[in-house]
Amino acid sequence: MKEYDYDLFVIGAGSGGVRASRISSQYGARVAVAEDAALGGTCVNVGCVPKKLFVYGSHFSEDFEDAAGFGWDVGESSFDWSRLRDNKTQEIERLNGIYAGLLSGAGVDLIQSRASVTGPHSVNAGGREYTAKYILIASGGQAHVPDIKGREHVITSNEAFYLDEFPRRVLVVGGGYIAVEFAGIFSGLGAQTTLAYRGPLFLRGFDSGVRAFVAEEIAKKNVELLFNYDVSEISKNDDGSLLVAFKAGNSIETDLVMYATGRVPNIEGLGLKEIGIDTQSNGAIVVNDHYQTSVPSIYAIGDVTDRIQLTPVAIAEAMCLADNLFRGGEKLLDYTNIPTAVFCQPNIGTVGLTEEQALAEFGDLDIYESTFKPMKHTLSGRDERSFMKLIVERSTDKVVGVHMVGPDAGEMMQGMGVALKCGATKADFDSTIGIHPTAAEEFVTMRELRK
Ligand code: NDP
Repeated sequence: MKEYDYDLFVIGAGSGGVRASRISSQYGARVAVAEDAALGGTCVNVGCVPKKLFVYGSHFSEDFEDAAGFGWDVGESSFDWSRLRDNKTQEIERLNGIYAGLLSGAGVDLIQSRASVTGPHSVNAGGREYTAKYILIASGGQAHVPDIKGREHVITSNEAFYLDEFPRRVLVVGGGYIAVEFAGIFSGLGAQTTLAYRGPLFLRGFDSGVRAFVAEEIAKKNVELLFNYDVSEISKNDDGSLLVAFKAGNSIETDLVMYATGRVPNIEGLGLKEIGIDTQSNGAIVVNDHYQTSVPSIYAIGDVTDRIQLTPVAIAEAMCLADNLFRGGEKLLDYTNIPTAVFCQPNIGTVGLTEEQALAEFGDLDIYESTFKPMKHTLSGRDERSFMKLIVERSTDKVVGVHMVGPDAGEMMQGMGVALKCGATKADFDSTIGIHPTAAEEFVTMRELRK
């Protein structure tokens, strides 16, 4: 008789939970995963994947216009929201099926139910008690809407993926990843779009050069940017439109308000308090470097720990944990130089330190900056520019930050991430031959220091 029903019981089949389940099972562990919603979590269902499909969809409006300079007469175009929405949903359902196949193929038991922790080695799921040597909480996060008057009138990105009708006018509230990405989507698909952010400049935490540049570019694309606009109240007019009042006293009328004001850990009903699992004030589960909670047999990874809310980080944490639990590994994940992209239009791609962080850490820096019109727009005539920046620690010549605003910035940043991980110096960048004609070659041909 085995001591426990399972070696690992995972709560949540999102990016982190699925990967931890599959890999642990492949290492020989007996694994169950509980999930009461669609497989794949936020990323697959209401995050990265459908968002990127919408970004592709929204870019066609510009592509049709840009085609003219290349000799194409496209004729009148029209956009059918329900077709994009439903095609996207079909693709997500296909991916849900692939996730189910991956789990069953790996021999993981899927329990389609909510689960709560009832003890250091026990879980309740679907009214049944299961025991496990280790429990992993990978329940993710959820959109957070602040407690404003009229909160019932707003949607979050969750609902934006399934709207019955495409709005004529949209207000996006917030200034992070999701706000700027959705502002681009709504605007590209034809909605009159406004973004309201409570501070002086959005994308706090990104390099200041990137923030200022992307604000200029987004504004060129008919997105109205309202900075220092903090919502005080939202009310519904008789005709169904919404009136959004700001603390400064002004107001605007719109048809849809989407809040993108951050995400909070999903811990409701998990039973954390009852068994003494420590959490932070926002609910994030406290873990040590090995993802162990204050109850040693219980672990947590991904957004529920609120460290870095990115799918590839949750996946890397899952791989690390599976290795340590079932292969006797002692791995620690390196959280430095995590490349990331924001799929606003144009994209942001970034890896390493911002200029502000590098200045605080190293003092003397060499900064290389370049802005230029992408080659495509010489013929399209579009007034869009790109921005690139290299931050170099002067005393060692090491490149400590790479930032870009422009088409395919996200694609470019993956390779830059490898370079920074390897400790590339500016001399290494300079000795790398460019690929011509690309925008990326600019990264290896920048020679002039920023004044
Ligand atoms: P972020 O934390 O990135 O941004 C939240 C924004 O909302 C900030 O601008 C913040 O302002 C603002 N805000 C917070 N509270 C309030 C409030 N009470 N009233 C008004 N504004 C408020 O969250 P997102 O929701 O955009 O995204 C969540 C996370 O998901 C991201 O941090 C990212 O890690 C991940 N993500 C990654 C993507 C990618 O990799 N491409 C895409 C989408 C999401 P302030 O700066 O002033 O605090």
